[in-house]
Amino acid sequence: MRHETAACPTGIPSTNLLALDEEGMNRLVQQFAWPRYRAGQILRWLYQRRANDIYQMTDLGQGERTALASVATIPRATDCRVYCSIDHTRKLVLTLNDGLTVETVLIPEEERLTLCVSTQVGCTLDCGFCLTGTMGLKRNLKPHEIMEQVLTAQDRLESGERITNIVFMGMGEPLANMDALTEAIRRLTNKSWGLGWSPRRITVSTAGLAARLKDVAPLGVNVAISLNATTDDQRASLMPAVNGIASLRTLLSACRRYPLPPTRRLTFEYVLLAGVNDQPDDARRLTKLVRGIRCKINLIPFNEFPGSPFRRPSECDILAFQAIVRQKGLDVFVRRSRGRDVLGACGQLGNLSPSYAGRALTQIEARC
Ligand code: SAH
Repeated sequence: MRHETAACPTGIPSTNLLALDEEGMNRLVQQFAWPRYRAGQILRWLYQRRANDIYQMTDLGQGERTALASVATIPRATDCRVYCSIDHTRKLVLTLNDGLTVETVLIPEEERLTLCVSTQVGCTLDCGFCLTGTMGLKRNLKPHEIMEQVLTAQDRLESGERITNIVFMGMGEPLANMDALTEAIRRLTNKSWGLGWSPRRITVSTAGLAARLKDVAPLGVNVAISLNATTDDQRASLMPAVNGIASLRTLLSACRRYPLPPTRRLTFEYVLLAGVNDQPDDARRLTKLVRGIRCKINLIPFNEFPGSPFRRPSECDILAFQAIVRQKGLDVFVRRSRGRDVLGACGQLGNLSPSYAGRALTQIEARC
């Protein structure tokens, strides 16, 4: 791999340390003929201390740091714009090396501080109710670009703040970028040099790439499945790409086969769209679909964005839907939208120019 080459004919350091996995770091250290434990030291500087300069690595000798700096850099994101919502949700917009931007959202709640992380710029899928889906796929994020969101969010925390949960519910379909997702989770959970997170504090959300669920299981993270419809016709019109890959029946049988540890359960997400999938019949069908699966259900009232044909249901309809599902003995919660005024809520992440977003937001708030 080019980025792992220590030789540097141009004289410009070419290795991005953040782009190396543990194996790659071991090889780099080997090329220098350094002891093996140096790899762990460097990785700890990158992830546990969030170093942005090789010369900060004070447990490496001066000569070693100079040698490392002659071939490698730590190119952390330089441009990060922060949009603060009136509800204290913060949307961070990071500029990547190639000029594309990616969004990550910090959501403070009473006892929690959740970071919502993106896995793609744009999205492979084309769900009609999601702004990211309307952008198309620009590209997959690399593991270090996923990690960059976490590291930058940590850099920006206020004193006393600590991220308690990470949800892969930002831009993109995580299971369409499985290798990068897996490597990012490895770095988040590695206890020796990574962030040491318990996988229980991490949730991966999928629109329903059923065949990939078996690859998520070994990661030990929580899984959320965006159901959003209760018949294939309805789902095909709302989420054509993913429903073409796996029908409701295929998806739910993959969920039934999912090897859930005894104390865990799946989460089903259900976006409520006024007059489309929020009727009492939908609620009844939903309870039948998930019967026998250890799960909870999160209802997400639609978050509006410019140009969307959908509307958010009334509070009364939301509660009526919840009551029907609850009556069947299921745990069902309404996820309160956060960060809507900065287009930071579910389904609102995407490339809107700030002036356009400003105008659109005024329109949305006026209508609600
Ligand atoms: N692609 C993944 C993760 C990103 S979306 C997935 O589909 O699960 C995260 C959640 O937001 C999903 O449950 C999705 O259905 C929901 N969502 C998308 N657009 C929305 C919108 N405009 N309003 C409310 N929820 C939305």
